[in-house]
Amino acid sequence: MEKPVFRFAPSPNGYLHLGHALSALENERLAQQSAGNLLLRIDDIDLSRARPEFESAISEDLAWLGIEFDGAVRRQSDHISDYQYALDALKEEGLAYPAFMSRADIRDHVSAAEATGDAWPRDPDGAPHYPGVDRELDESERQLRIAAGAAYTWRLDMAAALSRISTPIDWLESGAGPNGETGQVMANPSLWGDAILARRDAPASYHLSVVVDDAIQGISDVVRGRDLFHATSIHRLLQELLGLPVPRYHHHRLLLDTDGRKLSKSRKDTSIRELKTAGLSPADVIRLIR
Ligand code: GLU
Repeated sequence: MEKPVFRFAPSPNGYLHLGHALSALENERLAQQSAGNLLLRIDDIDLSRARPEFESAISEDLAWLGIEFDGAVRRQSDHISDYQYALDALKEEGLAYPAFMSRADIRDHVSAAEATGDAWPRDPDGAPHYPGVDRELDESERQLRIAAGAAYTWRLDMAAALSRISTPIDWLESGAGPNGETGQVMANPSLWGDAILARRDAPASYHLSVVVDDAIQGISDVVRGRDLFHATSIHRLLQELLGLPVPRYHHHRLLLDTDGRKLSKSRKDTSIRELKTAGLSPADVIRLIR
């Protein structure tokens, strides 16, 4: 059997907090259990939010916690052409289209539609599905708009994508979803509507970059927080469309704050740095999580 490969993939747009430490430790525990390798990936594809000082802080904090990684660190911003290649493949298949509606256009469209009484579908992150009014634009009209400098994002044509899939898609879950989903789990990519594939300031969306990276890095086991459970549905679809291998998935519990909300990077009180400055040892931090 090939050696399993795990990865911890933080985004350098804030300091690591206890939730990240839990995720890194879960990756380390499961990698050790299966004598696998653990890789570190810096998910900095969102160039507008990533900052180099957070990247160095991430490495320092992980080293302080005593978590060791194998092999070289992969930084997404060094591999833009890999994502471009995947996006081009989807465009050539007629599965990606330039979407010209701004956030405000989408909001207006959705409120007008909801004023008639029907709730507009939203994705698992709470964002309204893209109305897709420009999905059917003909090529010359698209080119005219782009030449005239119109802003746009690349979106997946979900209906076209689903029509290419002949058998239901699923994944093997060894953790659990929010409703206890485990074992062989059916993917439901339509939850995401016409998801964003790339933006001007982010050459690939999180969904597109993560499936490309996991394939290139030979990741056999994706271990991450339960907040990304539903994202796996669209990751599985993109893997099918791009002919990529399918890792096993393990979604672990989330650490909640005292109000029952997921910890976030904006909450300084649980950042590893802050706890270190307050005099806690790595062992104390690990005890807080376990
Ligand atoms: N970079 C993502 C985050 O920090 C995690 C990516 C993943 O584990 O799939 O939320």
